[in-house]
Amino acid sequence: MSPHDPPQAPILTINSGSSSLKFAIFTRQDGDERLVLSGVASSISKPSSSQSRGRLKIEDSAGAVLLDEQREFASQKEALQAVQSRLEEHGSAHPAAIGHRVVHGGPKLREHQKITPDVLRTLEESVHFAPLHIPPAVDLIRETEKLFPGAPQIACFDTAFHRTLPEIASRFPLPEELWEQGILRYGFHGLSYESIVSILGKDLRPRTVLAHLGNGSSLAALEKGVSVDTSMGLTPTGGIPMSTRSGDLDPGILLYLMRARGMDAGALEQMLNHRSGLASLSGGESDLRRLQQASESGDRKAAFAIAVFCRSIARTVAAYAAVLGGLDQLVFTAGIGENSSLVRSLAAARLEFLGIELDEESNRKHRTVISKRGSVCEVRVVHTDEDRQIARHTRRLLGSAAD
Ligand code: ADP
Repeated sequence: MSPHDPPQAPILTINSGSSSLKFAIFTRQDGDERLVLSGVASSISKPSSSQSRGRLKIEDSAGAVLLDEQREFASQKEALQAVQSRLEEHGSAHPAAIGHRVVHGGPKLREHQKITPDVLRTLEESVHFAPLHIPPAVDLIRETEKLFPGAPQIACFDTAFHRTLPEIASRFPLPEELWEQGILRYGFHGLSYESIVSILGKDLRPRTVLAHLGNGSSLAALEKGVSVDTSMGLTPTGGIPMSTRSGDLDPGILLYLMRARGMDAGALEQMLNHRSGLASLSGGESDLRRLQQASESGDRKAAFAIAVFCRSIARTVAAYAAVLGGLDQLVFTAGIGENSSLVRSLAAARLEFLGIELDEESNRKHRTVISKRGSVCEVRVVHTDEDRQIARHTRRLLGSAAD
């Protein structure tokens, strides 16, 4: 951003997933970031014969649809080109800066920062830490540079929030040289966790567990707002079972699959990330809402998948109560955490011994506080706002990006 840019100059945020590209424009108002518009390009790289068709949708801050068109996107790059041209038509294609959510920055990039050629090189050198995430992130940053020439770019890493993890939580019991080479627990969903901490403000209690439950799911133990443990590890494949990811496993299973089934790294990666988790337990369905519907209609496999998921959540919360020396607050967020009263209820039912008592009516109505008055541990539902968090960091780091 040039020194002449007004302080309310627009920031573009880019949040890319495996098959979607979310974006938003923020300006500054009353000391915080104000949403102007947001959008999503979905079903990227999916064949047109698949169930979900490619789509580009843009809404204003009140949710009114500004654009909704069906189109196929062969890649994230193609989706970003379409976003840029539509933003141009809306007069929003000249942001003062662009903030990217970057899932993993490897061992050397643990702070949100301006993207320089050096940072990009370091990111590329870390590709083995996150082969599924770093190459597409680098490609997208390079494409952004071409499409929005001159706009500074900021990388916001999902691992940054967890750089406070103590060694006792981040070190795996493996030979020391691996720890020294950066094979450790990084943790993810950091922008979401930061957002929850910021939204809770004074309502955040000293010993809190945050449960980010979406297609990717993780939990974090917070001591006075600082991450001291989290369920994902070196990669977002670890932790509790997710929609299509396995979560933690006995490592001996991988050895068995390599020896007895001849599976190589690529085949294991495919299976662990795309054919495991809820999808594998239910017989194919990975979407929690659809699993709930199937379960209600008597589908026992769907019910089993949900039961495993909720038990894993409860087991992790209980483990973190041990880490924190008790529990004052449990917060649910993201697609499942914010919308599934069933998952919240099944997980909480196993945690009564920790002083968690849900108020079922508040839970059904997705109220902010869903625990009973007098519950030793307060339970909340909070809508996460990762994009605003990216915009905040981007504007904050613009000062240091004036070189
Ligand atoms: P991502 O990790 O891709 O950002 P989300 O946070 O959007 O995922 O969460 C997607 C999950 O949330 C899906 O499993 C979806 O079925 C579930 N979900 C969304 N709305 C509801 C709802 N009303 N009831 C139950 N589950 C829901």
